[in-house]
Amino acid sequence: MTQWNLSSEQERVRLVDVDRLTADLQSGSDPVLNGIVTMVAEHFGVPTSLVSIIERDYQVFKARVGMEAERTSREVSFCAHGLGEEAVLEICDPTQDPRFALNPLVTGAPYIRYYAGAPLRVKSGQTLGRLCVIDHQAHPPMDEQGRTLLRNAASVVVARLESIHRAHYIDAVTGLPNRQRFESDIKDTFGQADRIAMMIEPLSASGMDSLAKALGGEFFTRFMLAVKELLVQLLPEGARLYRSGTLGFVALLEGSPALSISRLSADLVQAFACPLYSGNIPIFSDVGISVLELEREIDGTTDILRLMASVTDAARRSEQRWLNYDPLIDAGLRRSTALLNAIEAALVSPDQFRLVYQPRIDLASGRCVAVEALLRWTHPTLGEVSPAEFIPLAESTASIRHITRWVMRRVCEQLAAWRAQGIEMTASLNVSALDLTDGRLFDLLVEALQAFDVAPRFIELEFTESVLVTDFQAVRAQLQRFRDLGVAIGIDDFGSGYSNWAYLRQIPATSVKLDRSLLADLQPGNSEWHIIRGLISLVRELSLTVVAEGVETELHYHLLRGWGCQQGQGYHFAKPLSPTDLLAWWNAGQCGLAPQRQRAGECLLDNL
Ligand code: C2E
Ligand code: MG
Ligand code: MG
Repeated sequence: MTQWNLSSEQERVRLVDVDRLTADLQSGSDPVLNGIVTMVAEHFGVPTSLVSIIERDYQVFKARVGMEAERTSREVSFCAHGLGEEAVLEICDPTQDPRFALNPLVTGAPYIRYYAGAPLRVKSGQTLGRLCVIDHQAHPPMDEQGRTLLRNAASVVVARLESIHRAHYIDAVTGLPNRQRFESDIKDTFGQADRIAMMIEPLSASGMDSLAKALGGEFFTRFMLAVKELLVQLLPEGARLYRSGTLGFVALLEGSPALSISRLSADLVQAFACPLYSGNIPIFSDVGISVLELEREIDGTTDILRLMASVTDAARRSEQRWLNYDPLIDAGLRRSTALLNAIEAALVSPDQFRLVYQPRIDLASGRCVAVEALLRWTHPTLGEVSPAEFIPLAESTASIRHITRWVMRRVCEQLAAWRAQGIEMTASLNVSALDLTDGRLFDLLVEALQAFDVAPRFIELEFTESVLVTDFQAVRAQLQRFRDLGVAIGIDDFGSGYSNWAYLRQIPATSVKLDRSLLADLQPGNSEWHIIRGLISLVRELSLTVVAEGVETELHYHLLRGWGCQQGQGYHFAKPLSPTDLLAWWNAGQCGLAPQRQRAGECLLDNL
């Protein structure tokens, strides 16, 4: 069968259009095309009508009536004949036509005896396939009116395919080409020299969320339209702007000696520093811009938008607010994802998570009053991972709750084990904001205490000020429940954020831990010197125990003691120790008293 009347180059170009205009359309999914084939079949009084798209190896029926199969091989296709020709192809009796007499669709089911197909020609002049009618009996030749009707119906099919394609590739809100279009353009033009992609996100995800929540989705839409206008004004001629997602835009730029990316980025950042108007309401942006030189950084398979989104977030946090793509940022993101994915498995593994305990010392007596439980993670392939890295990650998911539950049980178990060895110890453990919104935390702690027969006064919960910004009243009520149970409550890292005196009076805390960065920067007479002194006396005035964190030197120790700080924790006394090392440290009497008689537990609440 000789149906190939196009050169291989012509066919390659034709297939690009076929792919562009029809690849995303499922067979039978479009009601308009389905309606067209039904009408055409009725008009010509035939059982079968098809929108047949000729792909490389198959003809695929994007709409069909009177045909079971969704596709056939291209070899047997009638529609694939004479693809370069503009005329309607009509075969009045295939059994009499040497080109088709032996075609399996003629000699077997569906026993084609009549065929007429009008080409589906697109603007570029390419033919995607045909709109055809088929019968089981031979017909006399179609009259001119019939041919015109079939050709017109074929143009309607083409118009519909183009409009479906546009809808798929255009962002309905801004009218800009969308993410799919960007990805397909990048694929089509891959390898072209000197192209630069620039991602611009006017807000962070949480910024967008609060804007949409506060003022409504319509308002956010208008804001994004204002952003589009600004970008259209500022981007150089020839730049293609896309809406790459809910949050942002991407521009594709041709590199040229006249184009300074750093100048353009700085200009954009400056423009976003002024409020944009959504209706009459001025909105400040929180812009992040990332720049990626396509040739240098990627191969054809890279997920460019994901790469750029990671850099855009980092850019938002940087001072200049725009950044070139840096493979390190991407590697960091991949590591974070790997860690997050591994946390749940680590919690049930016997040898990945463990707790170490750092003594807390009463500065006046030198006695160890408590230990702080600190989590350690040995990841099977990444090795030791610091809690400073994985805890903030876990705090972005529900995993932090599982971690806290794990720590709570282990701490109670450890306290019971020490008690069995004659040491009555108090332990403090760190809890996060998300834990305090966990309605089950209280019950789980009670359960753990009971399981190991530990009294609540041997436990302290440490949390940072960040918990209070969520829902102050709810957090306070939750803390009060713990306090009523007899658990001590410590405020961690005080002085590192924006410390708020008003809430210190209102929450049922028992101690305040000064952040170790204050001590790290301490110099005689400098501002930290005055801040620490001031904080100590203010906290004491509120009848809370003051604890200093990061006590590293003899000087720290003496100064703090002199200023009235009651307790301290830091390398000067002891590093965080494994339970066995802690026991050895304890038995060596390093905390000043004869080991067996020490009772560490009660000191935390004694000062109140
Ligand atoms: P944090 O609660 O403020 O713990 C004190 C941190 O300071 C610990 O770091 C400790 O090892 C370190 N440190 C103690 N003394 C000194 C000193 O003299 N000098 C210096 N430079 N550092 C000292 P670590 O163990 O790496 O923990 C970091 C943070 O991770 C903790 O800060 C806490 O916020 C979090 N974290 C650790 N374990 C847990 C946990 O079980 N649950 C939760 N939610 N967070 C945890
Ligand atoms: Mg702590
Ligand atoms: Mg701390």
